[in-house]
Amino acid sequence: MGRQSGRGQDSGKNPRKNLGKRKLAGMAVFVAAFFLSAALLGKGCFLLADKCISAISVFAKGTDNGGPGQLSQAADAGNPGNLFLTNDQAAPAGLVAIDAGHGGEDDGCYRDGVSEAKVNLELAKGLSGKLQEMGFETVMLREDDESLPSLEERVKMAQDAGADIFVSIHQNAYDGNEPGVSGIETWYCGNLADSGRLAGLVHKGAVEKTGAVDRGTQETDELYVVRYASMPSCLIETAFLSDGAERQAITSQAYQDRLVEGMAQGIQAYFGAK
Ligand SMILES: [Zn+2]
Repeated sequence: MGRQSGRGQDSGKNPRKNLGKRKLAGMAVFVAAFFLSAALLGKGCFLLADKCISAISVFAKGTDNGGPGQLSQAADAGNPGNLFLTNDQAAPAGLVAIDAGHGGEDDGCYRDGVSEAKVNLELAKGLSGKLQEMGFETVMLREDDESLPSLEERVKMAQDAGADIFVSIHQNAYDGNEPGVSGIETWYCGNLADSGRLAGLVHKGAVEKTGAVDRGTQETDELYVVRYASMPSCLIETAFLSDGAERQAITSQAYQDRLVEGMAQGIQAYFGAK
């Protein structure tokens, strides 16, 4: 008969042997790919799951976000089993909803030409950029000075985005007779256990980096965004616009940078301790 039957006879001669060869070849490619990949990855921790090497998990630190592509492609080529690469730096560290308080026709507190809404947005943008540098994802609940989302919309936006935490930025003002009222205070609602921890860490970072007066953290159920956010949340009031020195400081880039750095470190500590 033709070629077809010849090939059929060949394969019929010793199917077990051929299968064994294919398996062996596959295994060889797989093992080579595995060690090559291991060499490329540098240090790592390799776990063999199952006696016949049906699965290998590779945990590598310090690799980039390239994901499992290279290793799993190599495994697919030989295909004697499944190869999984998990990289603990591949996933974002967390998604942070950043709420620049007020906006639009609502200036918040306004003193001597300084608008709270504008300062809030500058700080929110700074914090968003800083967190992204650190590997976090962010969602800005207000992105310009013209828009004024309602408090309900802000809470919903954070929830729809799947944010892990909610940080609202505001400025303070004092109109009483006591002199020198200034500093940072941070609010949270006690309905979610982690909100107090988040508030404490963000507050501590901000106070430490700026040297501002520490007015502490306080619990409240009267601030809408922290009360109704479905994720741990806090509201930080980073300066008193009624205090001349603090009003001047909060509009300077250098002071804003320190403040942003402190808040970002607090957020990193929050996620780090989980
Ligand atoms: Zn405000």
